[in-house]
Amino acid sequence: MASKEEPTGKVSSDGEDNTASASATDISDRWDIERITQYFARKFGFRRDEDELEEPTEKILEESSVDGIIKYIKDSKCKNIITMAGAGISTSAGIPDFRSPGSGLYHNLEKYNLPDPQAIFEIGFFRENPKPFFTLAKELYPGSFKPTVCHYFIRLLQEKGLLLRHYTQNIDTLERVAGIPGEKIVEAHGTFHTSHCIDCHSGYSMEWIKEKIFADSVPTCEDCNGIVKPDIVFFGENLPTKFFTLMQKDFPKCDLLIIMGSSLAVQPFASLIDRVPSNCPRLLVNREKAGERSSLMVMMGLGGLDFKSEYSRDVALLGDCDYGCQLLADKLGWGDELRELVAKEHKRIDEENSKNVSTGTNEQEIKGAQSEGKQKSEVKEEAK
Ligand SMILES: [Zn+2]
Repeated sequence: MASKEEPTGKVSSDGEDNTASASATDISDRWDIERITQYFARKFGFRRDEDELEEPTEKILEESSVDGIIKYIKDSKCKNIITMAGAGISTSAGIPDFRSPGSGLYHNLEKYNLPDPQAIFEIGFFRENPKPFFTLAKELYPGSFKPTVCHYFIRLLQEKGLLLRHYTQNIDTLERVAGIPGEKIVEAHGTFHTSHCIDCHSGYSMEWIKEKIFADSVPTCEDCNGIVKPDIVFFGENLPTKFFTLMQKDFPKCDLLIIMGSSLAVQPFASLIDRVPSNCPRLLVNREKAGERSSLMVMMGLGGLDFKSEYSRDVALLGDCDYGCQLLADKLGWGDELRELVAKEHKRIDEENSKNVSTGTNEQEIKGAQSEGKQKSEVKEEAK
């Protein structure tokens, strides 16, 4: 039977050694098994009290609305907010959802004859043929994008001492760029921030690998000549150990969960929403409703969000993440502070970028951009 610790024990920092046996799907299966186990454990009464998933007995929010959430933040003992984010918080920064075929990004890769676009993110394929991944990585490389209003809202939560942790599915490092401290961030699907050799596991900096990527060369290890890969989680790799260890520590302490820009479709990330205590309000800020519980889940007592019941602790704020976060900030009385922070930080990033270009420190980048342009026109030729 799946124990709680099992996913953690199997995690390796690079995921390279057990790719065949522990894919992301396996983790998600284990997760489902764990939830069913929890259900039976509860039925037969041998669960620990702290794991109890009882329905709340009292009304937690005065009203199940955004104003109810605001009131809860303002006048209760709300000290530990966890934010969970998906691709939706970065779309206004111009970052495409690159994992979905048809986003346009895959056109440059036609010449590689991939078995399917997702093969780029499969560790087995990467070992054989790393070139397509690095071509895509160059196009998507973090650094030319600016964090969004939503990212700075999370930073404000941190500065006001309210942020317990930020869990993100994004690999774009925009949370770090926005100035949220690294120890407050869990990059569930990994990050471009660090890289490791897939054979000897030597670590490399973001600057080191960036230079190789922009020079169109496959980064190879200085110690063993293995391929060096950014620490983003590929299909067939485990999630970072930090995800499993901090998740077990953080979620029982959470007293407000804010889910932003995620359709809650990817496991195990999505099931984090059920790890908060049963009296913890959950706010979804997203273009559409997500993570809603089905009637089967209700029957089994298996969690999910509930936007229907009159006294639900769950609230949906529908719209773009930037709109939603600015609205929250306005209602909390931080509206101007957020607007000023965004303006100040964006100005600083613009100035830094133009300084880098004029001093030539970004020579590689410029060279990279030129050859990228060439590549694009070549693709166009072929398409004719
Ligand atoms: Zn190596």
